[in-house]
Parts: sequence; C-alpha cells; structure tokens
Amino acid sequence: MTRLGQNFLRDPNLARVAVDRAQLRPDDVALEVGPGRGILTAPLAEAVATVQAIEIDRGLEGDLAPVLAAHPNVRLTWGDAMQVPLADLDPAPTAFVANLPYNVATPLILTSIADLPGVDRWCVMVQREIADRLFAAPSTPAYGAVSVLMQLACERTDLHPVGRAVFDPPPRVDSALVAFRRRADWPRDTWEPLARLVHAGFRHRRKTLANNLAMAGLAERDAAERILEDLGHDRRIRAEAIAPTGWPVLLDAITVA
Ligand code: SAM
Repeated sequence: MTRLGQNFLRDPNLARVAVDRAQLRPDDVALEVGPGRGILTAPLAEAVATVQAIEIDRGLEGDLAPVLAAHPNVRLTWGDAMQVPLADLDPAPTAFVANLPYNVATPLILTSIADLPGVDRWCVMVQREIADRLFAAPSTPAYGAVSVLMQLACERTDLHPVGRAVFDPPPRVDSALVAFRRRADWPRDTWEPLARLVHAGFRHRRKTLANNLAMAGLAERDAAERILEDLGHDRRIRAEAIAPTGWPVLLDAITVA
C-alpha cells in the first residue's frame, strides 16, 4: 500500500456501484476525499448537485483536469482532508462517497460524523477489516471504541466485499464498500464527552472498564465499580461487553455521580 493509499479503482462499473449504493438525491452535495484520477468523481458529479472533492496530491492535477472541465459542479480543494476544516465547506456536504485512503479512513469517518451534521448517508470503500470493525457486535474481537461510536450514530445499510484485483496497484488487503446512514443526531456537548469515555474505556483491552476509567482520570476505581454495579453490570466488566446503548447510560451515571 502506498503512503497516500493510492490504490486507484480500475473499473468504472464499480465506481457506479458505489454511487448507486449511496442512495443519492439530485440535490445532494457529495463529499469525496481523494478523487485521485476522477474515476468516481465523474459518476458522482452526474448524480448530485455538487461534489466537494479534497485531494492531497497535486501530482494528480493533470489527470483531474479533464474531469473538472467536463463537470463544472465539482469543487476541488487541494489539501490534507485531515487538516481541511470540513465544517467550512460551502455548500455543506449532505453525503460522503469515497474510495478512502486507508490510513486515514477511520478518523475521517468519525470526523465527518461529528463535524458534518448535514451528512446523513455514507458509501465508502475501506479496508475489509475496518468495514467489519465499524459495525462489529459486542464481545467480538473486532468490537472497539470505533464500533460503539459508529453504531450510536449510524446504521449500516450495505456491505459489498471487494477483491484486490479491482485496484491499481492491488493493495495487500481486501476491501469492502460499506454504506451507512445517520440514525441519531448527538449534540456536540454530549458527543465529545461520550467519545472521550468510550476511547478511555477501551484503551487497555485486558484491563477492566473501571480500571481504564480510573487510569484516564474519569472516576475513582471504587466509584466506577459501584456505578457499574448500580447499572446492573459486573464490577469487573470489560468495555467490550458493554453494548453501544450502554455507553450513554454510563456517561450519565458518571457525570451525575
Ligand atoms: N478516488 C480514486 C479512485 O477510486 O481511484 C482514488 C482513491 S485512492 C484509494 C485515495 C486517494 O486519496 C488518492 O488520490 C490519494 O492521493 C488521496 N489522499 C490520500 N491521503 C489524503 C488526505 N489526507 N487528504 C486528501 N486526499 C488524500
């Protein structure tokens, strides 16, 4: 895999599949991180009102020029999508469709959930392992902080496994196109402490949840154990045994205690 995750799609049909599964509307503003050579950008631009594309690699300017010329509704921002303030994009995105650079896929998805409240549909190509982690069930090895946050905010609508041969160059891992939609709007002043709590809870997977919360300074260990028992859990429960819906309840109890 290249440093910038430049595994370009070879097959325009697969780009169309991504656009179809995103359930787009003609008035959508689609965010595409990493348009690359534009294989996905072109069908996306035909399906929506505006494409907000963000590309880090200026070396792709020549490849993108004809796509931009043919589709004046594509707005291209050069830069690192992890640094570009997504909330300042105007018009604001309403959907997120991309073949994501794999090294930043998870943080970009979480940032888009928090910073782009107008986005309510995603259809993204990611590493298969990441796709599985996003919607993993409690008490499975793939279940972690990201699974909790994703499932509190979104529900999966589609999962389409994709082999390596459809990319140029082929990556060393399998991929999947995963689609999901927003199921709940979390106010920022709840979401941020919730995200801190969840990340702290999973920090050391072999430690108990109470220990992890104590190590993060979120509660004394004894107090955390009492709170967990009051909520009907074993005092030595690990984070992975708590379902997504259990975390906002825990946040309430910890804030109140
Ligand atoms: N959409 C194209 C396709 O499907 O063929 C390219 C996808 S390729 C997997 C990922 C793209 O993201 C590349 O064009 C790469 O240069 C770009 N990229 C990598 N890191 C980025 C970042 N932090 N911000 C914006 N673009 C990035």
